[in-house]
Amino acid sequence: MRIIVLMLLYCIVFAESVGAQKVSDANTSFILGGVEVARGSTENIIIELPKLYNTPIQLPVRVIRGKEDGPVIFVSAAIHGDELNGIEIIRRFRNLQILEKLKGTVILIPVVNVYGMMNLSRYLPDRRDLNRHFPGCEKGSLASRIADIFFDEIVSKCDLGIDIHTAAIHRSNLPQIRTNIDNAHILKLAKAFEAPVILHSELRDGSLRATAQDMGVPTLLYEAGEALRFDEQSIRIGVKGLVNILIAKGMLEDVEDKKDVKTPIIARSSEWIRAKESGIIRTIKALGDTVSKNEIIAYINAPLDDTSFVLLAPFDGIIIGKSEIPLIQEGDAVFHIARFKDLEVADEKLEYFSEDVIKNSDFCEFNDQEIIE
Ligand SMILES: [Zn+2]
Repeated sequence: MRIIVLMLLYCIVFAESVGAQKVSDANTSFILGGVEVARGSTENIIIELPKLYNTPIQLPVRVIRGKEDGPVIFVSAAIHGDELNGIEIIRRFRNLQILEKLKGTVILIPVVNVYGMMNLSRYLPDRRDLNRHFPGCEKGSLASRIADIFFDEIVSKCDLGIDIHTAAIHRSNLPQIRTNIDNAHILKLAKAFEAPVILHSELRDGSLRATAQDMGVPTLLYEAGEALRFDEQSIRIGVKGLVNILIAKGMLEDVEDKKDVKTPIIARSSEWIRAKESGIIRTIKALGDTVSKNEIIAYINAPLDDTSFVLLAPFDGIIIGKSEIPLIQEGDAVFHIARFKDLEVADEKLEYFSEDVIKNSDFCEFNDQEIIE
């Protein structure tokens, strides 16, 4: 039964198989999972992961190698098994015709936490969070062994990584890049991605981003949308973001004449605003809204009580994350607000990054997809 599930998973992830178009005169070899990928070819590769008890588990990986050499980049999604937007971002990205002109190599891993995805869970079957166990170890726990294989087979071969996440379950995130904004090189790439917001974020011990960075593989974290849901805007910004990064790294030629480049909002700090009462909550602000200090952002009341308690914004900023459940317990996090003083500038920038901009992209291929509602 498990094997059938795995085969199905493989079919879902790589439904449109691309035949290898090998170039016979490739000199430099690129080997992943024991498979050699020639220049100008695309390969779907299966990496064996630790068995789940006695059931084999496999990691599907696609390698797209350009005809010309260049940087090697990995794009990973669903390290938290219920964070699905990245799977769709990778599906759309891998079919873009512009990749025929790729210089260098892109390694796509649409579902890193295969175990978690099968159970709609963020975690591994041993309840561990895979993203706290990098770089892992060969003889360690299940989480540690998976991390070790991922590092050895993929991260160690790369110059740069992009790791795609969503908010945790029952929360949603405005599309944002999280990175160390004090690192000029990585900040430049974060800006190039063109998500509406860049949020400074310290490295977290054991995370893929922290460990990869320690090993000289800078990694951008793209956070967008909600667990167990697809979000069209997050997906479109994500697909275009991947292309933008390849352009910034010289792996693709720029097809747009960028006269009016807008930089994202860069926020150094943020805070989760917590409920001071318990009850039914009506949030009256949305993701991407700007809020002023002391502005009402939500009302809380008991089911048959007309008296509402208000929740106020404690400082000026932009809503970059929010709870999606209309029930709240005192102390629960409701809104994630990034500090940003100039609200007029913030409004203008967020307008630019609205869905219309994504629809009107010069990359007409992006617009062929039917919109997910
Ligand atoms: Zn995550």
